[in-house]
Amino acid sequence: MPPPLHLPDHFETELNAYIQDQIEELVQNLFELVSIPSISKLPEHAEDCQRVLEAVAKMAAKFGFSYKITQTQGLPVFTAWLEQNPEAPWITIYNHMDVQPADEPQWESSPFEPLLKDERIYGRGSTDDKGPALTTLYAIAFLKEKGYPLPNIQLIYETEEENGSKHFGQFLDKMQTELKTPRSILVSDTIFEGDHPALTYRLRGLLQAEAELISGSQDQHSGMVGGVVENPLNLLVKALATCVDESGTVTIPDVTAPVLNAEEQAALEKTAAVFNLERLHLDTHGSRFYTEDTREIIERIWCRPTFEIHGFEGIQTTPGMIKSALPYHVKAKLTLRLMAEQDPNQVLKALEKHLQASHPDIQVHDRGQLRGCKSDLDSPAMQTAAAACEFGFGKSPLIVGSGGSIGALPEFQRIFPNSPLVLIAQSLMSDHYHGPNENFRMSQIRNGIRTMAAYLYGLGAGSE
Ligand SMILES: [Zn+2]
Repeated sequence: MPPPLHLPDHFETELNAYIQDQIEELVQNLFELVSIPSISKLPEHAEDCQRVLEAVAKMAAKFGFSYKITQTQGLPVFTAWLEQNPEAPWITIYNHMDVQPADEPQWESSPFEPLLKDERIYGRGSTDDKGPALTTLYAIAFLKEKGYPLPNIQLIYETEEENGSKHFGQFLDKMQTELKTPRSILVSDTIFEGDHPALTYRLRGLLQAEAELISGSQDQHSGMVGGVVENPLNLLVKALATCVDESGTVTIPDVTAPVLNAEEQAALEKTAAVFNLERLHLDTHGSRFYTEDTREIIERIWCRPTFEIHGFEGIQTTPGMIKSALPYHVKAKLTLRLMAEQDPNQVLKALEKHLQASHPDIQVHDRGQLRGCKSDLDSPAMQTAAAACEFGFGKSPLIVGSGGSIGALPEFQRIFPNSPLVLIAQSLMSDHYHGPNENFRMSQIRNGIRTMAAYLYGLGAGSE
């Protein structure tokens, strides 16, 4: 049980009145941000990424923040500071202002012409992640206006999150002398577990690799020399097949699942009890599952490594045509989802060693990696977050893991190893995260401000 959050008597009444008073302005601001198509994956929108940061900078400046927009070799990053008390600790709040492309034909309104309809704001980026950034900003503004305790705030909004945060580490390195070391890092770029507020404590890492096998310098006739010269495709496929078994379990030595402690086990059981398996079947459009056991499904997504083959190079792809030639040079495109406990470089070595046991000439190439991350369930910030969710959303949060990765987080952990990450969800999966008709509900805006105000109050009061 989280410790009770001691909010002052009139806190809730004042907060609700403030929300009532400010919500129209917040919606206008969100409309302005959503109307800027800051699609980081498309180079022609690079200027929009700069523009969206300039727009949000104006909003933050109105609340008293000083700010800086930093250029990287990729897209820019916005940093802003609000120092209330030089004695108080700093916290960092991370969000992103870039969005996914919005070319799905199922959009019922124009994705970059925001629309308020049936208590929802429709538009690309409304829930991921522009809306949650604004609710947090308004929570800060409320505490500041009413003179409530507030930690010193350092905002970091990037514009490459949807494209892998490739230059975020470079930004942190470049800004190292200007950045304040935060006591904790707040991230709201995650989603509810069904209808339950959620605090994400674990994210998987990712290793992208290519496995390559070459034999000779040109294709060979399968009749004249077939059965004599090696077929690298046969041999590579055979080696790859030893990396994962028919139940989807990785069989590469040393690439194993972590042992969960009692607290993690309890969090898993609690989520399994409310997990909607039917919904997952609908969302995965008829794909067969390795298991139908709900608890095991969650464990697999949260904390088991994966090994996936996505494609090959050097193979024949013309539909219906078979050319009876042996390929001489083949490559497999692979990904492995990893645990926070695993170093992607070690996994890369383990993978190469394992494949070379099948064929000594197989070479493995690193094609990009992200470390997983895990936050401390016992940190005071996490406990305050749980109490804040209960106040803000009216339900105690589930403590969850995520199968995916947020590229900026391992970089934060590299630069600020002693600052726990706190991930408070404000969006729902059914708000069409990354899909057509993305929207942010007005109820999530109100409750998001409530949750963030309570959380930041808790941190500010605790620091006094
Ligand atoms: Zn996203």
